[in-house]
Amino acid sequence: MTHDVAIIGGGPAGSAVALRLAELGHQVVLIERSTFPRPHVGICLSHQTVQLLDHLGAGNSFRAAGHWQRRTTLVLWDGVTRQVDNSGFHVDRGLLDHDLLARAVRAGVDLHQPAQLRSISHSAHGHRLTLANGTVLETRFVVDAGGRRPAVPGQRVHDGPPLLALHATWRFAAQPVCDGLIEASESAWLWCARSGPTDVIQSVFVDPRNLQNVSGDRLQELYLRLLARFSLSLLTGTQSSQVEACDASSRHAKLPIDGGMIRVGDAALTVDPLASQGVHLALTSGLQAAAIVNTILKRPASATLAQSFYVNRVASRVALYSAHTGNEYARAAAAHNTKFWIERAATAARLQQPISPPPAPSDYVGLSPALSLTNSAVIEDDFVVKRRVVQHPNLEGCIKYLAGDDLPQLLASLPRIARYERLVACLKQQSPKGALIADWLWHNALLVRLNR
Ligand SMILES: Cc1cc2nc3c(=O)[nH]c(=O)nc-3n(C[C@H](O)[C@H](O)[C@H](O)COP(=O)(O)OP(=O)(O)OC[C@H]3O[C@@H](n4cnc5c(N)ncnc54)[C@H](O)[C@@H]3O)c2cc1C
Repeated sequence: MTHDVAIIGGGPAGSAVALRLAELGHQVVLIERSTFPRPHVGICLSHQTVQLLDHLGAGNSFRAAGHWQRRTTLVLWDGVTRQVDNSGFHVDRGLLDHDLLARAVRAGVDLHQPAQLRSISHSAHGHRLTLANGTVLETRFVVDAGGRRPAVPGQRVHDGPPLLALHATWRFAAQPVCDGLIEASESAWLWCARSGPTDVIQSVFVDPRNLQNVSGDRLQELYLRLLARFSLSLLTGTQSSQVEACDASSRHAKLPIDGGMIRVGDAALTVDPLASQGVHLALTSGLQAAAIVNTILKRPASATLAQSFYVNRVASRVALYSAHTGNEYARAAAAHNTKFWIERAATAARLQQPISPPPAPSDYVGLSPALSLTNSAVIEDDFVVKRRVVQHPNLEGCIKYLAGDDLPQLLASLPRIARYERLVACLKQQSPKGALIADWLWHNALLVRLNR
């Protein structure tokens, strides 16, 4: 059978790219080896991720599914215990991933599930995919959305020391005071995420190089031993699932896009679970990949621009997440001066911090000297095109539109230096969202206080 695009893997990245490409009129086939719903790690989502689900038309079913709403998390990271308000969701990934994949099928995606990819080779049409059941698929483009162990072999670059997660579900004895717990110990960290009225998932993150031959009963023994080292753990409950071990190391693909093949989600880049951003990045890269494949197939003259856009986006994501997680590990290293933390803090980088407190109306402000207006590739109406954009070290990639407004145009019209109230008035004159834009510029340190 012949299709425009074959996608391997039906997690959030694969479903997002499949759904969008089908909506854009492409013939899409998706191959998923597991029967859904299936359990999956990666349950903490932010409100920004729900905005992406809204964009995919999946927001309402997400809200109706009754996922656990996180309000507060107890944090003991740098020697001091704090209760942090960080509202978000602890989701059932079985339900979420099933819903996204069903949406892609309703949009016209041809689904092979459960089906395992046996081999992939070049053909006159582009690629020939052979499935374990003997089915042969011909396709112009391949999307690897196979997750941490990519479906299409390729070199991967390590972005830090290895990390292993040991996790199990627990039924707690008494109601916990928070929806989440995070704690750093001498050479490991703990993450508990409440997943329902009585259940919590307790995960311990360790360096696998310090463990030898751990499986079966010894894995369970090790898990309990590690849990006992944390003061915040919910050990008083009862464990209701077997302990599982899974790789949680950060890596990225050396070639995220290569001719007629693109990698999305974890197959392109796995970030440290400390960031809780894997699903968000899977959906974002899925949406971006759809625009890139759409450009390459419908406007081949822009193929090089589309490819370089994606390569740059993955590279800037790697740099930004390495810096963010490195900074978090450095904070823990200040309290626990051990190899585990010091090694992981090596990717720490000084990010430009927003200056607080926020400016008074009479303060003089101006655009950060680190900000530049330049021509670069962006996605517009599902195609990659070259436009004037805003760049700044705090931004992942560059920005053309902010809340629907042309940001470079807005910024080019601002005075070099002005009182904050005048600058907000200038923005408000040009956009009904002027005050929000001023706030966003300040919080991302694109606007800075200046001396008159
Ligand atoms: C311990 C741990 C905790 C995490 N916690 C969080 C968190 O709290 N929040 C968060 O956002 N992220 C978290 N993550 C990351 C998150 O789980 C992933 O980033 C996310 O699931 C990536 O989505 P994906 O679609 O790229 O891959 P996946 O969700 O892994 O989907 C890949 C799919 O491809 C299928 N597949 C693979 N190979 C083949 C093949 N050859 N043929 C057919 N099908 C195939 C698989 O069956 C699977 O369904 C965590 C990760 C770990 C390891």
